[in-house]
Amino acid sequence: MSKAFDIWIESLAATALPSLPSATGAGDYYPERVVRPNLSSTVAGGKRFHIETFGCQMNAHDSEKVAGVLLERGYRAAENLAQADLVLYNTCSIREKAAQKVFSRLGEFRYASPRKVIAVLGCLAQQEGEEIFERAPWVSLVCGSASYRKLPELLTELEEGGRRVMSLDLDTDETFETEITRRDNPFRAYLTIIEGCDYACSYCVVPHTRGPERSRASDSILSEVRRLADAGYTEIQLLGQTVNSYRDPSPRGIDFVALLRAVAAVEGIRRVRFTTSHPNDFHREIVEAIDEVPALCDHVHLPVQSGSTSILRAMRRTYTRDEYLEKISWVRAASRPISLTTDIIVGFPGETEEDFEETLTLLDTVGYDGVFSFKYSPRPNTTASSMADAVPEEEKSRRLAVAMDRQREIQIARNQKLVGAAFEILVDARHEARGQWAGRSTSNRMVNFTSPRENLLGQYVQVKVTRAGPNSLVGDEVV
Ligand code: SAM
Ligand code: SF4
Repeated sequence: MSKAFDIWIESLAATALPSLPSATGAGDYYPERVVRPNLSSTVAGGKRFHIETFGCQMNAHDSEKVAGVLLERGYRAAENLAQADLVLYNTCSIREKAAQKVFSRLGEFRYASPRKVIAVLGCLAQQEGEEIFERAPWVSLVCGSASYRKLPELLTELEEGGRRVMSLDLDTDETFETEITRRDNPFRAYLTIIEGCDYACSYCVVPHTRGPERSRASDSILSEVRRLADAGYTEIQLLGQTVNSYRDPSPRGIDFVALLRAVAAVEGIRRVRFTTSHPNDFHREIVEAIDEVPALCDHVHLPVQSGSTSILRAMRRTYTRDEYLEKISWVRAASRPISLTTDIIVGFPGETEEDFEETLTLLDTVGYDGVFSFKYSPRPNTTASSMADAVPEEEKSRRLAVAMDRQREIQIARNQKLVGAAFEILVDARHEARGQWAGRSTSNRMVNFTSPRENLLGQYVQVKVTRAGPNSLVGDEVV
């Protein structure tokens, strides 16, 4: 996990993108300025959709809910992109590269079949709005992350012949709930409990793309968890940009810790994870709950962003290095080992060599089990984008490489100590060629292992670790 990544891509139809011809004239393809027919006239029988998702787990889960909305309206999932009548891109704009990637994907549809209707959803849709129609006139639908509730209306407009349908409403206190959610992962169920963000970190577009913070009512969350348990899910991952600032809007008014305990108490649920926690809302009671309730996983993702208090101030992170480290000390004092992961940004405007050195010493001090490290990327509508003292790109790259190397050493040393230990693994994959199963421990460590048994997918098994790498462990099932 120490490698930097700019983008996570998942595809609901799980297909590779076929390359589209870049020339006009061939049967199915047509020049950019030709007006697209509307959705209803392009399809015979059930319309088929394909969603490609960029970005974080919240986006992945939004796509699962969008798929639910489409299925409810009678659409079918396409086997692949080529067969889809409706292609939806659920986008990310957290870093410049993520946004570029979406535009390059859209560019591939310049000459695509008129039978395809193209939609852009999510953070980039919110950020760029109408500009998307200008840059990619073959797009028919633009829907921002805070407007998903309006998706059925937008689809109706499209189906009735609308050519440029858009919703960018940010001013909402509603959350996106669906009758059906088409979950991709049969073992771990994502569940968004809070949307938007009320913080104002100076580098971050999220408050502009996802709108104000709004929590989902606890009754609604708990009834979905019960349904998931009935459907056979044993692991739940609660999601939110600042998941731990959850506040139940219903008269029950429970806080995040009470919700964690209630979800963990649902019969059939064996593991509860949550991400992402903001350090400001990370209280001792969360650690106490993890300590007391076995179903709460031994893992906390607590993004620090920088080890330098002056950079944290410039980032408007609302905590100092020492305050952050105090919270880490609560985690380390728990009666069972809790793994810790974080996010860091290098090359924030004004970050000196000394500031960067403080991030490196923080990595040493905390001893994380994984770090997502990013080069600072200036984003529109953020206060940091106009700050002086920009760090040159090559220097950002150098700092990123240094931070990743340092963290890699830390992970090798930490994982090495686990050789000989046994973990309970929820098995979620089979690597046929290697003859191995794979899954995760409660501490979210990836473990590849061998077993004489068959049909282990979805089962919990005990695995003894025999080897360790920086990002994963290898072992054998204890039989
Ligand atoms: N809400 C989470 C928090 O407060 O830590 C973070 C959510 S953000 C989607 C995920 C990560 O992207 C952040 O923790 C940060 O490290 C990184 N990130 C956000 N904006 C960035 C930017 N402009 N440049 C580089 N990395 C950025
Ligand atoms: Fe972005 Fe900060 Fe909100 Fe996280 S807390 S989503 S980094 S503004």
